[in-house]
Amino acid sequence: MFDVLIIGMGAAGYTSAIYAARYKLKTLIVGLEDGGMGLTAAEVGNWPGTIEIKGPDLMENFKKHAQSFEEVTQKVARVEKVEKIAGGFRLTFQSGETAEGKTLILATGSQKRHLGVKGETEFSGKGVTYCATCDAFFYRGKTVAVIGGGDSAVEGAAIAAQVAAKVYLVHRRSAFRAEPYWEERLKSMKNVMFVLERNLVEILGDAKVTGIRIDKPFEGSDQLAVDGVFIEIGSDPSVDLGVQIGCALDERGFLKVDDGMATSVAGVFGAGDATSASNHFAQFVTAAGEGAVAANGVFSFIQSAGANA
Ligand SMILES: Cc1cc2nc3c(=O)[nH]c(=O)nc-3n(C[C@H](O)[C@H](O)[C@H](O)COP(=O)(O)OP(=O)(O)OC[C@H]3O[C@@H](n4cnc5c(N)ncnc54)[C@H](O)[C@@H]3O)c2cc1C
Repeated sequence: MFDVLIIGMGAAGYTSAIYAARYKLKTLIVGLEDGGMGLTAAEVGNWPGTIEIKGPDLMENFKKHAQSFEEVTQKVARVEKVEKIAGGFRLTFQSGETAEGKTLILATGSQKRHLGVKGETEFSGKGVTYCATCDAFFYRGKTVAVIGGGDSAVEGAAIAAQVAAKVYLVHRRSAFRAEPYWEERLKSMKNVMFVLERNLVEILGDAKVTGIRIDKPFEGSDQLAVDGVFIEIGSDPSVDLGVQIGCALDERGFLKVDDGMATSVAGVFGAGDATSASNHFAQFVTAAGEGAVAANGVFSFIQSAGANA
């Protein structure tokens, strides 16, 4: 039996693993993909101590650090089921294999929101994707639309504009909710067209995307010819496994945690974008900080369970 099972191989999960290992806890870290959301961050300019680093390189550093401890076992797999057993918890993976641990850290991050417009499902993977920074490279010299007005949309549009011939940034409001750094950078790019106060209503195409339809005309037409559409309208916390095991959620649907990152279920801790902590400020540095606190909580929990045994 492991001392701690960590679900999530992002900044939160890996930091928990590093701290747990330094507490000499036998640790299993599992994730659907190794690196989490950090893999999609093109440039990270706010990881303290490093002026600039690419997201995948940052995540590689997290992974190497965790791998340097013999206490840490890594596994890339989907966790289908979490259950309470005598003395701890059991995970069941998609393959049917299981793993057991005395405590659990849910560092399951978030998943990209879908718009639900006509053509979105039909053209998903045929020009419609949910990560501009990951997929912009495939649209060199082409025209793309980025939908949204937050950090992901504005950064995504700026990255796309470096390779695409033209980028339409379609946003339902007149102002963005993005870091001024990215907004300023985007506004200085000549090939970006700001399609503001407009909603995307349909994605058009035949075998693949050929255009989008918006609810109000832009430069005289409600249709824009594009080769790709990046939907960047935010994310929802991945809380299914927490709900399975009875963890309470906050009013916004995030895993409810206390100051020690403990959830409402004894022995289960949360960390990162999936939780209510850090004022919902979803960043590498907050995810990592919460991961450290969660591992500290696990250590105290195991110690007090031992003292009471
Ligand atoms: C385009 C983009 C750019 C960004 N740029 C920055 C930036 O410059 N600076 C900054 O601070 N932040 C940035 N962020 C935010 C930052 O990436 C996140 O806040 C951070 O990565 C969250 O880490 P996390 O560990 O909480 O979650 P994640 O990294 O999302 O990790 C969640 C993990 O849980 C796993 N998981 C979920 N469900 C299951 C399951 N059922 N079974 C197995 N595994 C599961 C996933 O596979 C994944 O490994 C950016 C985000 C995006 C999208």
